Amino acid sequence: MSHIKTAINEVRSTLPEGVTLVAVSKYHPTEAIEEAYSVGQRIFGESIVQHLRVKAETLPKDIRWHFIGHLQTNKVKYIAPFIAMIESVDSERLLIEIDRQAERCGRVIDVLLELHLAKEETKSGFDPEECLALLESGIATKLPHIHICGIMTMGTNTDDEALIASEFDKAYNFFTIIKQQFFSNSPYFTECSWGMSDDYLLAIKHHSNHVRVGSRIFK
Ligand SMILES: *Cc1c(COP(=O)(O)O)cnc(C)c1O
Repeated sequence: MSHIKTAINEVRSTLPEGVTLVAVSKYHPTEAIEEAYSVGQRIFGESIVQHLRVKAETLPKDIRWHFIGHLQTNKVKYIAPFIAMIESVDSERLLIEIDRQAERCGRVIDVLLELHLAKEETKSGFDPEECLALLESGIATKLPHIHICGIMTMGTNTDDEALIASEFDKAYNFFTIIKQQFFSNSPYFTECSWGMSDDYLLAIKHHSNHVRVGSRIFK
């Protein structure tokens, strides 16, 4: 599995300073994660609660786990004790439940608001209007056990680079607007999470500072 070390080093060599790499290890065994860990990777992304629990139990405790899949509110309690960041917050209910479970664990949990900009209806996330309405309700200041750290989005799955780029630009524009309106006093609101294996370099050109790369590393 030394190809994993080579691949992760290749991806890293293409990242400008200040860009966070989440190595998306979903569906890959703990041995694969250990390979990436052995060359210094510490942030891993998982999308299924049950898999994540098993991996987090077995693997080194200094790994920072990011949850990137659809998260059911009734499962938050299983990951609240250890999760470093939940990138896929797509409802007010989920936000409130994360705050509640974080409080029970005596923690503050970092989250990103997932924005739905892609053409595919199947993808989850807030519509921009919906997200604005939520923020206008003052929610961000009412939940002391979460830090809202930025925006996550996925581009449309297409070869049309111009379309994907326009979605990333929309995400950044939205990030800028809400940062100004709702987070101007927050030191935490810094993360622009877009870009995956096929489009992370394009994403970085369009203001991403946080990429989630899976198949290009783990193959
Ligand atoms: C699977 C997944 C990724 C990684 O996708 P790759 O194409 O394998 O790099 C990134 N973000 C999310 C939300 C995912 O579900």
